[in-house]
Amino acid sequence: MDRTSFRYRILLVDDEAALRDVGKMLLEAQGYEVLGAEDGFEGLAALKQSLPDIIISDLQMPNMNGFEFLSVVRRRFPTIPVIVISGEFSGVSVPESVLADAFFEKGEYKLPELFSRICALVHELPTRPKTGKPNNAAVWVMNNKGTVAVTCSECLRTFPVAGVSKGVNEAECDFCSCMVRFEIIGESFVGR
Ligand SMILES: [Zn+2]
Repeated sequence: MDRTSFRYRILLVDDEAALRDVGKMLLEAQGYEVLGAEDGFEGLAALKQSLPDIIISDLQMPNMNGFEFLSVVRRRFPTIPVIVISGEFSGVSVPESVLADAFFEKGEYKLPELFSRICALVHELPTRPKTGKPNNAAVWVMNNKGTVAVTCSECLRTFPVAGVSKGVNEAECDFCSCMVRFEIIGESFVGR
């Protein structure tokens, strides 16, 4: 591989190490530079280091799941295209706030389809309109104690909020004091 040529960078977020490794290998063979992250928190940490050209993310992950991660990404980095690869939702009823550019069901798609979608998304980068909806509340998932760890879409730091209810909530960021709007869409995935 010609290492001097420009390579598009992909951030691959999946909690299954084996899938991450295989994905990394396959995408690198296509000429991409691939960064891995095992959940949304690691994904955000990676975004603070350097911005990828495209993000590929799972939805069901411990700590910070894909809904939460992507809703922060959509508010903070609306121009980065996002592909969701997940087994949970079969392409239907993905919340509008997640706004993935493409959705593939785990184990149910052909690699050439994924590769051509990635190719199309990175090549439309220069003219890509802002598809994010800045006024959309970020999506959050409540744990069984009625608290959430909300990530501020401005400073990307995470703080606990108690007494939340289903629907749209507001809380002041502990760190930068801006008001964070977030929508509770359901119970935690963990342990389901
Ligand atoms: Zn903040």
